[in-house]
Amino acid sequence: MTQPRILSFTRSWKFSSPGESKVAILFFYSCTFLWGYPTYLFWIMPLSLNTLWNAHATFLLGNALMWFLFLKASMMNPGLLPQHTDEYYQAIRQVDYLNYWEEGKILLPRLCHECHLVKPLRAKHCRIINRCVSGFDHYCPFIYNSVGYRNRPYFVGFLTTMCLNSVVGIYLCWNWFNVMGRSIFIGIGFLFLSVIATTSAMMTSLCVYMAAVNLTTAECFKTTKYAYLLDHQGKFFNPFDRGIILNFMEFLHTIKPLTEEELKKAELTLV
Ligand SMILES: [Zn+2]
Repeated sequence: MTQPRILSFTRSWKFSSPGESKVAILFFYSCTFLWGYPTYLFWIMPLSLNTLWNAHATFLLGNALMWFLFLKASMMNPGLLPQHTDEYYQAIRQVDYLNYWEEGKILLPRLCHECHLVKPLRAKHCRIINRCVSGFDHYCPFIYNSVGYRNRPYFVGFLTTMCLNSVVGIYLCWNWFNVMGRSIFIGIGFLFLSVIATTSAMMTSLCVYMAAVNLTTAECFKTTKYAYLLDHQGKFFNPFDRGIILNFMEFLHTIKPLTEEELKKAELTLV
C-alpha cells in the first residue's frame, strides 16, 4: 500500500535512519542563519567593530571561506564510480569457475551488486546515496553528501574554519560580557559556539591525524574489517602510509595515491 504523502514526507525529514535524517542539518543551519548571524550583525558588531576590528575581519573572512568550503564539499562529486561496468559482468560470468580460496576470496568482496562494478581498492558503497565512492570516508548529514577522495580536503577545511570561527565568536561574546554585563541572549550564543568549537576541534584533530597516517574514517574505526589492512599474520598493517609529508601531499591531491600495481610490487596483501 502506498504511504500517504504527508506521512512519507515526515518520515523522510525526521524519522529516517541517522544518516538520512535532516533534523541535525535543519537545527544547525536554522540556529546559524536565523539567530547566530542576526545576533552578530545587530548586537555584537555595532558594539566592538571599531575596537576589535581585527577579530571582526578574521570572523568575516573566516565565515566567507567556511561557506565556500561547505559548498564545495556539499555540492561536488565525492568520487562516484561508474556503474554497470563490463568488468563486473565479466567477473560475474567467471564466478562459477573461480577457486574460492585463491581467487574468489579476493574478487568476491570487491563486487558491488548495487552499482554493478568491481570496487577499486579503498572504494566503498555508501548506503545513503546508494553509490560506490572512491576513497569513501563517511556520509556527513551536515554537508548532505558523502565524503570521499575528491571532497575530503574541502570537508576538513570546512571543519577547520568552523572551529576557527567559533573560537573568534566566543572571544567576541566574551568581550560583550566585559563591556555590557550579563545577557541570556548572548550567553546562549556563547554556549552554542562553545559546543560547536569543541566538537569541530575534536573532529578536525581526528581528520588531521587520519590524513597524517593515510587512513579514512571508515578504515580507522574498522581496521580489522578490511583485509588490505592486515598483514600475513592477520595484524593491522597500513600499506598506504608513505610518511607524514607524502601522506599530507596525497591528502591535498598534490601527488597521486599509490596504484594497486605499485602496492603489489611492494609485496603487500591486497584484497
Ligand atoms: Zn556500490
